[in-house]
Amino acid sequence: MRILLSIGQISLVVIILSHCTRVEQGKKSIFIQNVTIIDGTGSDGYIGSVRITGDLISGIGDLEVTHSDSLIEGTGMVLSPGFIDTHSHHDWDTDRTVDAAISQGITTIIVGQDGGSRASLIQYFDSLITYPLALNLGSYVGHNTVRRAVLGDDFKREATNDEIDAMKRLVDVGMQDGALGLATGLEYDPGIYSNTEEVIELAKVVALHGGRYISHMRSEDIHLEQSIDEILRIGMEANIPVQISHFKLARRGLWGQAAHILERLNSARAAGINVTADIYPYQYWQSTMTVLFPKRDFENRKSAEYALTELTSPEGMIISRFDAKPEYQNLTLAEVAELRNEDAVTTYLTLIRMSLETPGESIIAKSMDLGDIKTLTSWPYANICSDGAPSGHPRGWGAFPRYLNMKTGESVEVKIHKMTAQAAENIGLDSIGIIKQGYYADLVLFDPENFIDNATFKEGQLRATGLQMVLVSGVVVYENNSPTMKYPGRVLKR
Ligand SMILES: [Zn+2]
Repeated sequence: MRILLSIGQISLVVIILSHCTRVEQGKKSIFIQNVTIIDGTGSDGYIGSVRITGDLISGIGDLEVTHSDSLIEGTGMVLSPGFIDTHSHHDWDTDRTVDAAISQGITTIIVGQDGGSRASLIQYFDSLITYPLALNLGSYVGHNTVRRAVLGDDFKREATNDEIDAMKRLVDVGMQDGALGLATGLEYDPGIYSNTEEVIELAKVVALHGGRYISHMRSEDIHLEQSIDEILRIGMEANIPVQISHFKLARRGLWGQAAHILERLNSARAAGINVTADIYPYQYWQSTMTVLFPKRDFENRKSAEYALTELTSPEGMIISRFDAKPEYQNLTLAEVAELRNEDAVTTYLTLIRMSLETPGESIIAKSMDLGDIKTLTSWPYANICSDGAPSGHPRGWGAFPRYLNMKTGESVEVKIHKMTAQAAENIGLDSIGIIKQGYYADLVLFDPENFIDNATFKEGQLRATGLQMVLVSGVVVYENNSPTMKYPGRVLKR
């Protein structure tokens, strides 16, 4: 019998934290009993059992434990599908455990984002099949990667027809290798110099393979509205599903308009354009110092002034990496300006000049309104991403539990849906993201009252707590706040 139970009622249940959840060796299956199953579809949670045989979910509901089961007591715990991170940079981790991701419940990362992918996806995928990660990985083919391969250093211009043809061939190879689709990073070099027609031509190749388009759009602040026009046009003319990466309203003048922008997207959907988005739950982003200069006029005081008043502020800009003068790291721009005894605009322009001479810089900057973030995450076609990496912004270690704890007005079931099944749908993958018989046993077992993110802007690499166990392909990869050093991750090809 299924007992319906809301999360509020779970707190009334005596929480028996099992100190002995370790899976016994030699048993044929894993049996998680008396657990609140939130299956990823958005349906209400209920108490039941789940059996895992091999790498698959083999039973769900009111099951009897047998002698071949390795028993895990789930009383007081929630079992959900593993979280799917549709925009991740966790592949920068040189360690196969990918601790930053699995310690927050992520069991699948999708890389090749912002226009940058591995030059040869087949080689990359083969290396991961030989030498797997703790979690699953899929990738897009990157527009900036293929554009640089074809145009080389002479990229500050529109491509010729022959060059577009050469890029199309590279995108086609990436799709044959199993890419999920094409990812652009139109706010970065060299993609910033492409026109929309070039992107449409490449997206058409992807559409022929049944792939998808995901984009760090040309602007997330000054020209956000035009960027939305552009992605919708690409969706329509290439006849391809389009996903807005890390959707945000990063300009003061746009704050409060999230609902209005979503209305536009809803109209586009009604007109037949399959537009979706992923979002991370922070008011700060992380990127380069130069990203706030769309005209690439790094000497222009007016552009710097605009960036520091409309787009972020000297106090809201944290210098997270600065190879030209490492002592500036972890200070805000306001603090560096004070040290240098000058105004923030002068300092900003000086730091950019220094970083062009000695490359290696990154900033974490506050540009978003919390109300807008909640409106965007509540959109039915949105899913959650981290955009995270093993170091830097705390999203790399905390985005998923942070969203789970954010007061958005959504139920825990809906939130989990946006971290699992909705994410799978938005990247075009099935057989993950739902607790369903025959699906891969990528699962997260957590204490709903105490699963919290701990990473901060000062200490970006603190683990989340309250996570009991993470399974990938039926293998425990994380338990008792530690990775188990098991590597059952699959390569997810389109
Ligand atoms: Zn991005």
